[in-house]
Formats: sequence, C-alpha cells, structure tokens
Amino acid sequence: MKALTYHGVRDVRVENVPDPRLHEPDDILLRVTATAICGSDLHLYRGKVPGLKDGDILGHEFMGVVEEVGRDVTRLAPGDRVVVPFTISCGHCFFCERALYSACETTNPARGAIMNKKTARSGAGMFGYTHLYGGYAGGQAEYVRVPKANVGPLKLPPGVADDRVLFLSDILPTGYQAALNGNVGPGSSVAIFGAGPVGLMAAASARLLGAEQIFMIDHHAYRLAFAEATYGVVPINFDDIEDPAERIIELTGFRGVDCAIDAVGFEAKGSALETVLTDLKLEGSSGKCLRQAIAATRRGGIVSVPGVYAGFIHGFLFGDAFEKGLSFRMGQTHTQHHMPVLLEHILEGRLNPEVIISHHLPLDQAAEGYRLFAEKLEDCRKVVLTPSA
Ligand code: NAD
Ligand code: ZN
Ligand code: ZN
Repeated sequence: MKALTYHGVRDVRVENVPDPRLHEPDDILLRVTATAICGSDLHLYRGKVPGLKDGDILGHEFMGVVEEVGRDVTRLAPGDRVVVPFTISCGHCFFCERALYSACETTNPARGAIMNKKTARSGAGMFGYTHLYGGYAGGQAEYVRVPKANVGPLKLPPGVADDRVLFLSDILPTGYQAALNGNVGPGSSVAIFGAGPVGLMAAASARLLGAEQIFMIDHHAYRLAFAEATYGVVPINFDDIEDPAERIIELTGFRGVDCAIDAVGFEAKGSALETVLTDLKLEGSSGKCLRQAIAATRRGGIVSVPGVYAGFIHGFLFGDAFEKGLSFRMGQTHTQHHMPVLLEHILEGRLNPEVIISHHLPLDQAAEGYRLFAEKLEDCRKVVLTPSA
C-alpha cells in the first residue's frame, strides 16, 4: 500500500510499504478514506520530537471503512464507517475508567522503558507519533491497523460526509476540551492564542458554549480574517501590536479575560532562548505565548493549554500566576470522551468543523501538503488527504 513516511527533518515521502495486518484479537484493519495533517505532525516534521525511525508512517487524524475485524471485536463489522481517535486507549485501566483516555496506562509499551522510571510521564499510545508513544503506524496511508477497536473508533450514521466528521479524530475534541477546561460558558470572555486548526476549533466550541467575547491572536492575517468572519472573534495581529495581552486587558475594562487558551504550544520559530534542555533532549520553548496568556487572564481565571509543550519553558511567570490566583489546565485530549456529544452537535448542525478545510489533496501529494501547512502558504488552514484505494 501507499503511505506517508518519515525520513528526517522536513523529509516526508509517499512510498510503497507492506500492508498492515491484524495483530491482536481486538484489532481492526481500516481502509482510510480521509486523513488530515495536524499541527502536532509539524512538531515531527520540524524534528522537535525524538523517537522517530526512518520509514515510520505518520498521521493520527483519519477515518475510513472497516475492512477486517479480529475475533474479539464486538462493536464493529466489515463495511462499517468509523472515525478513529488519535489516542489508543484500553477502556478499563485506572485512567480509562475515569474517562482520562489519553492517560491510558496499558497501550504505550514505551512507557517506563524510555522514561527509565516506573512513574512514566507519557500517556496512552498514539497513531503515527513516534516510538515514545508506542510506535504505532499512522493513518496517512491507504490502510491502518487500529488496536482497541471496541473502545476507540466511533461508528458513523450513513450519509454524513467525511469532511464533516473527520476532525472528531482530534482537533474538534481538542478545541472543545480546551474550552471546557477553561470553564467557558454563557457570557464568558476568552482569548485564544493561535488561529490554526486547534485555535479555530476552540473558537467554534467557545461560541457553542455561549462565550460572549472571543479575542484571537496570531500574525497570519488570512487566518485571523477567517476566524473573524466565521466565529466573530476580535482579531489581534501580534506583528502590528507590541503586546497583545495589554490590548486584551484594555478591551476588557482593565480586568483581563475569564480564560486564555494557548493553542500554539511549541513556537514555530526557534528563539535565541531555545535550547536542548532535558534528559530526553526535547527542546524548550521561549514561552512567549504562555507569558501572554498569563498576562491576558483576569484574577481567578483559567489558562487552558491544548498546545503541545515539552521540556522546560523559559520565563514562565509563576509569580504573576500565583498573584492572580490562576488555574492551569492542559494536556492531550481525552478524545473518546468527547466524540459522541460532538457528533450529535455536527449532525444537528450546531458545529460545522469542515469549514476550516482549505486544501484537499490526494495522498500522493502529502509531502506538498506538509510544506503548504508548515510554511502557511496558499492561505493554508487545514489539509485533508484522500487515499485512492
Ligand atoms: P498550526 O501550526 O496550524 O497553528 C498554530 C498557530 O499559532 C499558527 O497560526 C501560528 O502563526 C500561531 N502562533 C505562533 N506563535 C504564536 C504566538 N506567540 N501567539 C499567537 N499565535 C501564535 O497548528 P494547530 O494544528 O492549530 O495546532 C496547534 C497546537 O495544538 C500544536 O502545538 C499542536 O501540537 C497542538 N495540539 C494538541 C492536541 C492535544 O491533544 N492537546 C491535539 C492537537 C493539536
Ligand atoms: Zn492532531
Ligand atoms: Zn486504559
């Protein structure tokens, strides 16, 4: 089959690789009909996360048709259409029982071994996300093996287009969890840093939950203009203004927002402060966005962080956070927990996540898709790849 494989920094290629097979009795084999490129894939593409091997298949946002099922699969049959969450979770461990699916303690064989600690820091296994997360082959491919098929994949009703439901695999639940973590509700004021797909899904979710005032901070004018037109955000371009947080404070009666959402994470461009810091050789971040998020939040407010971080963060104003009595919520998304309710919102027309798609490309052109999305070319917001099989 064809798949998008990793060969080094900014070197991804579509190649012929062996077809995947069922390994465990609760696996399914999925024929992929649509798969997207995520901001998290860009961390791999830019070489910011260790643990990839030459030829690894990337991709953790995908959906398709069940081709084959293992003997213990009870919830699915060949021919079913499903969308698959990006984390692989067992459904019955300490964490899964508490709906903390991305903390599943049974699906990441790399835990402990790589961390060299009994109390491992990493959570569940993930598709296409390095050997730190279990080394599972990803779904930017014609076929993919999906483990824990009785827990993860969400069966879809007939007739709903792929584009409408594909983002249930990651970015929609991620934006939604970011808003829930920020206690966003009727009348809330929210500042969302980053107008990428995750920031846009956070804006859609904040609107759904009744937020009144949403500020969005980025420096790509085309992304901000889209967010303003689609979600009615107040755009703030950080290339035009010295201090976005100061502007937000002014616009909220010198109080700050109820919740700031950091949908940026690792900053795209390395800063002078960035350096290899940890025992894992993960890069640190200058923390500019986190500093801004803390500064923009009102006393007693919440900083919600869906953006991915690793290692030390420089210049983290913990004193200011203490003084203001802030709360921090963060982490990988417990996708399985949010998928059913979000599917209902989509089917009933309250959420239309597909509007953010800017590019549809055949899987063969996946490398070009990475380039457009990474470099923010051709007004790229989100790339969906379609395998031809
Ligand atoms: P993206 O790269 O398309 O978007 C990031 C945006 O942030 C860009 O538009 C960029 O211009 C903007 N930006 C950069 N520095 C900024 C700053 N200082 N202030 C404001 N904006 C700034 O990526 P994406 O797909 O939207 O993903 C965003 C983040 O979410 C990534 O870190 C990704 O890994 C993470 N993510 C986390 C989860 C999770 O489970 N928590 C899931 C999916 C993605
Ligand atoms: Zn993703
Ligand atoms: Zn589990």
